Amino acid sequence: MLRPDPYTTIYMKEALYWEPVDKNNKVVHCLLCPHNCRISPDKTGICRVRKNDDGKLYSLIYNEFTSIHLDPIEKKPLYHFYPGSHILSVGTFGCNFRCLHCQNWEISQSNQGDAPTHKITPESAVALAKKDDSIGIAHTYNEPLINYEWVFETAKLIHKENLKNVLVTNGYINEQPWENLLPFVDAANIDVKSFRDEFYKKICSGRLGPVLRSVEIMVKRNKHVEVTYLLIPHQNDSEQEIEDMVDWLSSVNPEIPLHFSRYFPQYKMDEPETPIATLEKAKKIALKRLKYVYLGNVK
Ligand code: SF4
Repeated sequence: MLRPDPYTTIYMKEALYWEPVDKNNKVVHCLLCPHNCRISPDKTGICRVRKNDDGKLYSLIYNEFTSIHLDPIEKKPLYHFYPGSHILSVGTFGCNFRCLHCQNWEISQSNQGDAPTHKITPESAVALAKKDDSIGIAHTYNEPLINYEWVFETAKLIHKENLKNVLVTNGYINEQPWENLLPFVDAANIDVKSFRDEFYKKICSGRLGPVLRSVEIMVKRNKHVEVTYLLIPHQNDSEQEIEDMVDWLSSVNPEIPLHFSRYFPQYKMDEPETPIATLEKAKKIALKRLKYVYLGNVK
């Protein structure tokens, strides 16, 4: 059920995956992602888009979108999933990470009201995907899993039309909601931002373990997954770290495509752009254990 937010023109959708902590003080516990936020009345969680209204948890981004484009599937990037096709790509605002190098920080780190939004219902998104000669819908641009309710509803409708659902995600989600969504997901590109937990804590305000678990579960469920690793000088580009990441990925499945992406200075990170030589060296290391390795953001 949708409910008007008393302070804006947004209609809030009651969230999935939460529980009351204490009925007297109306604090709630969000169970969607590994932050497991405890949220007081009138406050939002770390992602800024899930709000406690009078002791219930609501999504502020259901039907609220900042971006919609028809993109080549290779732009996600997915190189082994319907190559040459196009996919309707949608994004809203907010994120459960705080990456200092975020490339989409204008939407991912914005609060409600900062970025203009357009209303897109699950039904209208499916109609657009059909009209646009798209293979389906890609949930992308900001972190889609914090818009779980909309993604879930839309994904079910998309499958009824025999179209495809794609996620471009940081993989930071709890196990139960991930398992429940996966029957409706056909492919994902999951960012592994580093293979060190310290990086995740310091640079992203998250943790590495749940991200790896999301990749592993997806593979166990026989879903198509590709991994992106953005190489940032001095932060996550040591030979040892790349070896460790490649060892893990090849142990999951050596046929998972890996995309090393080139970093350019963004947002709050001031490291220099990634030298091409670093990307080529990483590719050489990865090709010892993995079958498909690509370089992205290079001309
Ligand atoms: S989805 Fe948002 S509110 Fe829920 S635990 Fe994660 S960051 Fe917190």
